Amino acid sequence: MTAKLIDGKAFAAGLRGRVKTGADALMSSHGVKPGLAVVIVGEDPASQVYVRNKVKQTAEAGMESIHHELPASTEQSKLEALIDDLNADPKIHGILVQLPLPGHVDSDAVLARITPEKDVDGFHEVNVGRLSIGSTGRSKPIIPCTPWGSLMLIQDTLGDITGANAVIVGRSNIVGKPMAQLLLGANATVTVAHSRTRDLPALCKTADILVAAVGRPEMVRGDWVRDGACIIDVGINRIPKDDGKTKLVGDVAFDECLGHAGSITPVPGGVGPMTIACLLANTLTAAHRSLDLDDPEV
Ligand code: NDP
Repeated sequence: MTAKLIDGKAFAAGLRGRVKTGADALMSSHGVKPGLAVVIVGEDPASQVYVRNKVKQTAEAGMESIHHELPASTEQSKLEALIDDLNADPKIHGILVQLPLPGHVDSDAVLARITPEKDVDGFHEVNVGRLSIGSTGRSKPIIPCTPWGSLMLIQDTLGDITGANAVIVGRSNIVGKPMAQLLLGANATVTVAHSRTRDLPALCKTADILVAAVGRPEMVRGDWVRDGACIIDVGINRIPKDDGKTKLVGDVAFDECLGHAGSITPVPGGVGPMTIACLLANTLTAAHRSLDLDDPEV
């Protein structure tokens, strides 16, 4: 068996196109351009590249992008004052604070300061709680971007996943835990594995859907994979090559798994592009909610 490649790059481009259509429609009907504020503290090179991409893609989606770049020495109180200003600014519908923040900053306090309606990362405890209890309608949560994008790719590939066995490797607040909530919400039977899990290879072998979000290059091996499984590789790891340069790999040994899986996301070009596309979709939703409109269909 050779796995079908799940083309996250193409899916994300389609999603960004639908978001742009929605943003243009909101401008025509209400004269409102969705606004996303990105706050970055310090000079982490990976974050800088990521933020530059966000800013570019926000503009391309017909949205206003406001970029706040603060020195690494920024004090907690100054950062919180900026969040307060952005919370109060009617032109800003989404606020994203790029993580990780420098060590002296209390990240949890900063994230909690963002008003839940503008929390387009979906990390605020109100949105986390709403996702966990399955709130609907006006109380629907804003969903964390990476797991939401992963779910879209899974459902686009497999259709209805009712009753499927899903194994998620990784239990972070950013990926693993919200991924579990989303898969549960879609009626999969979900197991969350982590660094203390016993016999991880055997557990992974039970998965119809295997999501790897670990941060360990190529940890999931070919013989861990059930024949025909759908593999979602969230990992982004930079490793050295023989020629002294570096390359990006996921948490899954891609070449080995190709022969076992039914479908698999590549790295790069799988989950990665979905994250920013979902961020833009969340910003469009936040802009609609600020006008008391129903959530847009994307
Ligand atoms: P974290 O470091 O926050 O979490 C890693 C998880 O993996 C933890 O739950 C940890 O377990 C578990 N883990 C670590 N080692 C093992 C092991 N040997 N066996 C089983 N489980 C293990 O990472 P994130 O969730 O933030 O990110 C995971 C990966 O996804 C990274 O490569 C990151 O770069 C990537 N990522 C990609 C994004 C994208 O846009 N595509 C967005 C966000 C992240 P424990 O809790 O027990 O310590």
